[in-house]
Amino acid sequence: MLYINGEWRNAYSNETMDVINPATGEVIAQVASGGSRETKEAIAAADAAFQEWKNTTAFDRAQYMKKVSELMRERAEDLAKTITMEMGKPINEARREVNSAINYNDWFLEEAKRVYGETVPASHQDKHLMVLREPVGVTAAITPWNFPLSMITRKISPAIAAGCTVIIKPAPATPLSAIKLFECFHDAGLPAGVVNLVIGPAEEIGSELTKSPIVRKLTFTGSTAVGKKLLRDSADTVKKVSMELGGHAPFIVFRDADLDLAVNSAVMTKFVNNGQTCICTNRIYVEESIAEEFGEKFAAKAKALRVGNGLNEEVQVGPLISEQSLKKVESHVQDALAHNGKLLCGGKRYESEGLNGYFYEPTVINYANEEMKIATEETFGPVAPIFSFSSEEEVIEKANQTNYGLAAYCFTKDLGKAFRMMKALEYGIVGINDPAPIVVQAPFGGYKESGIGREGGRSGILEYVEEKFVSIGGL
Ligand code: ADP
Repeated sequence: MLYINGEWRNAYSNETMDVINPATGEVIAQVASGGSRETKEAIAAADAAFQEWKNTTAFDRAQYMKKVSELMRERAEDLAKTITMEMGKPINEARREVNSAINYNDWFLEEAKRVYGETVPASHQDKHLMVLREPVGVTAAITPWNFPLSMITRKISPAIAAGCTVIIKPAPATPLSAIKLFECFHDAGLPAGVVNLVIGPAEEIGSELTKSPIVRKLTFTGSTAVGKKLLRDSADTVKKVSMELGGHAPFIVFRDADLDLAVNSAVMTKFVNNGQTCICTNRIYVEESIAEEFGEKFAAKAKALRVGNGLNEEVQVGPLISEQSLKKVESHVQDALAHNGKLLCGGKRYESEGLNGYFYEPTVINYANEEMKIATEETFGPVAPIFSFSSEEEVIEKANQTNYGLAAYCFTKDLGKAFRMMKALEYGIVGINDPAPIVVQAPFGGYKESGIGREGGRSGILEYVEEKFVSIGGL
């Protein structure tokens, strides 16, 4: 269903799209698929609603959002199951995602109350200078399938907290989580038009959103290629943009590191969500003298991971999202082996009775080198290449030798080295001895081609705010 101006709707064409469970290949739902006409109506509804919503107080907006969080908590298990069914991640990871989605909403409903203005010292006695912070306006949000719920609240929550109204287009693979979330918005009594949901063909909806002069802000999470296109398309109307794009995270292990911590952390950052997050480790760099030992320990843990349908409580690795993803993983592995990589585990599709989805075995490849595709391209799958290095300078150069700059990880017990690495890594997020450097109260975002702007933290809500300078003279 589409949700426009406070109402659940079918598409004018009555067209629908299939939603497929990637663990079984089965069609689990059919949802309405709208296009230009519905998007235009959603923009008009958001525009009309903005005129009132922007004048509500932050305290009133927070009350609505509190209700949304309450409803999400009540429906948490259903939301988690929906995530697992439509995108495959293990149910425990889906539960964590629901929690994180609620945490974002909670964080921003509080931050709404702290969008302070400023008084600026004047240069003339008869003047008074102020900076007001006002909502940007109608916001378009385009979200991916890998975190089908939390990527939405990470955008909608700061937008509506700031006083903006929103049209969201979720990924075609995962519309059900979005619909369930919108049921929470609807039941929380959010005024009509404040949030709108349009599901359907990406390009048609995307071009309607980018070309509209009413839409003042575009916030996107997805691939760098699509992000660049949307940036170009937003140029004609000079929209404000936030972009969370691809990553190619290095994971660096020095010989003085706590080896078990490093191994467990590598397993976590590589195989969480089956390697399908933009901050997943993509390149592991291990200091020469411990590379062999690290490889063996890491591969033993990777091999022990339980693969299967994410609805099974014991499963740790679910399916990939699609056949296309599976093919990319296969091509990266074949290419790495053709370039003299040594397979330590995995390396093929995972097969088991009753499973008919897009499964691949957790894979570890040692003796990786710069000739391999995997050295420069994001795999977005369960494949871990291990490179070795012999000096700090060398690994810094290799880690930074990419157009991406989202997350980097470094393991060492040497304090001086930790601080030098923290400064040298050209990344928006750096985890030192920490495989999970993501919290709602900190900024999330990338350097270089990994993005523009930040989500979360104090800066998250400012992405949805314009500054207005007011100079009052003749006093
Ligand atoms: P992924 O590789 O994670 O699927 P994409 O960048 O292809 O990343 O998709 C992220 C989001 O961008 C999805 O909602 C998708 O439908 C949307 N998208 C893809 N192409 C376009 C486009 N040309 N215009 C607008 N949105 C698009």
